[in-house]
Amino acid sequence: MTRRIVMFDTTLRDGEQCPGASLTPTQKLEIAKQLARLGVDVIEGGFPIASPGDREAVKLIAQTIKGPTIAALARSLPADIDAAAAALAPAKKKRIHVFLATSPIHRKYKLRKAQEEIVRQAVWAVTYAKQYARDIEFSPEDASRTEPEFLHQVIEAVIRAGATTVNIPDTVGFAIPDQFGQLIHGIVDHVPNIERAVISVHCHNDLGLSVPNSLAAIHNGAGQVECTVNGIGERAGNASLEEIVMTLKIRHDFYRVTTGIDTTQIAKASRLVSNLTGIIVQPNKAVVGGNAFRHESGIHQDGVLKHAATYEIMRPQDIGLASSQLVLGKLSGRHAFAKRLAALGFRLSPADLNQAFERFKVLADKKKEVFDEDLAAIVEDQLPAEHALYKLAYVHTASGSETVPTATIRLTKEGKTLQDAACGDGPVDACYNTIDRLTGISPELVDYNLHAVTKGKDALGEVVLKLRHQGVEGVGRGASTDVIEASAKAYLNAINKLVSSSTRRSYLKRRESPHP
Ligand code: MN
Repeated sequence: MTRRIVMFDTTLRDGEQCPGASLTPTQKLEIAKQLARLGVDVIEGGFPIASPGDREAVKLIAQTIKGPTIAALARSLPADIDAAAAALAPAKKKRIHVFLATSPIHRKYKLRKAQEEIVRQAVWAVTYAKQYARDIEFSPEDASRTEPEFLHQVIEAVIRAGATTVNIPDTVGFAIPDQFGQLIHGIVDHVPNIERAVISVHCHNDLGLSVPNSLAAIHNGAGQVECTVNGIGERAGNASLEEIVMTLKIRHDFYRVTTGIDTTQIAKASRLVSNLTGIIVQPNKAVVGGNAFRHESGIHQDGVLKHAATYEIMRPQDIGLASSQLVLGKLSGRHAFAKRLAALGFRLSPADLNQAFERFKVLADKKKEVFDEDLAAIVEDQLPAEHALYKLAYVHTASGSETVPTATIRLTKEGKTLQDAACGDGPVDACYNTIDRLTGISPELVDYNLHAVTKGKDALGEVVLKLRHQGVEGVGRGASTDVIEASAKAYLNAINKLVSSSTRRSYLKRRESPHP
């Protein structure tokens, strides 16, 4: 019989702890919807005690998402568990995930507690959480640096208290595959009641070993893996969902396990997470990197043309990546447009669809051929604008070799129109100076990236940038056939995030939050 591995996605919790990746509750919901289409078994929505933004996001996801179990994180403290339970209340299937550090270094310096006290507190936390949910996960934080005998003792005790999943985190990315596999094997062998719970692993990528460690654990009996889309997360990140899933699929001959993941949703999930967090996927990233399916060497190209399997172990279609194809033009109607969006996996409300269609018509006027990537950019560009304080109404710039670059910009703020003009050392700088004057804040531009969404001179330009203001960072993105307009949109998008208090809170929380 093939074992089915439980896929636990923590993109919205650990992934969001990635420096500079704060997401609003609406954006988290957007990602959660895609995770549900991807077929993950558990979505960890956040850490409710940490911030009002996290509470709201978990609640929103619990109310809306059907199918996957919704999980929330809590330290082994009453207020944490109460907050997690409250946020999860609307969920059909819910899981409370409690954690407590067990390693000698954490016991001595962080918690200042003896082994017996740790066991007592862990058992208390599981028992306390059990009043709210049947499905309880316990994580002995820093498990990979905990004495195995003590780890076995903790695991046995929390299972007896009612934990249904025991998660073994390699919190600091210290483990190596052979040893980590043995650790899991040891748990299977030495914890007498282990058959009553699922063993999970949660690996970090500090040495680039998060995926190999997770695979070694599966091979040795783990039944759940915790991972994130694009491998984002604290420091060097978490184990990447797409790498684990594709390895288990391509090398089923070895691992002999299955997952419930629809791999054709991977590319879209990767793109959505990258767009909303502003964290660009490196080109040579396994599975979802821009170069993952590009063959450069002549010998390889020749082989692939004769038979793809000569140099390709998986096909772009396996992860839902179709080669850029001409889909729509300016004569395409609303019906064809809606159908194509549905085929790409976007499900929009009628109002959002109308707005997207208007933007498509404008784009089709400027650009002969509209590709799938363009449609995705249009829709994804529109999503974060929903609760925007400032909206861009008009932008005009003048620049040239003999001209002082000048920008005139009109914004709307809660129905009121604001207009101003300013100059700069280039048209983009002039736009940013004008927006600073209109909004009254002058953030620092930390990062700016401009790229073409598709090929060709008339391609849609997409700007992803990062701003910093009073210690808070915000990522913004904007797309347009006019790169100046795309730049202005991205800047305003980031400013909108900086001024929204939920972003601010979720940033502040990060500095104190301990996590497994
Ligand atoms: Mn972690």
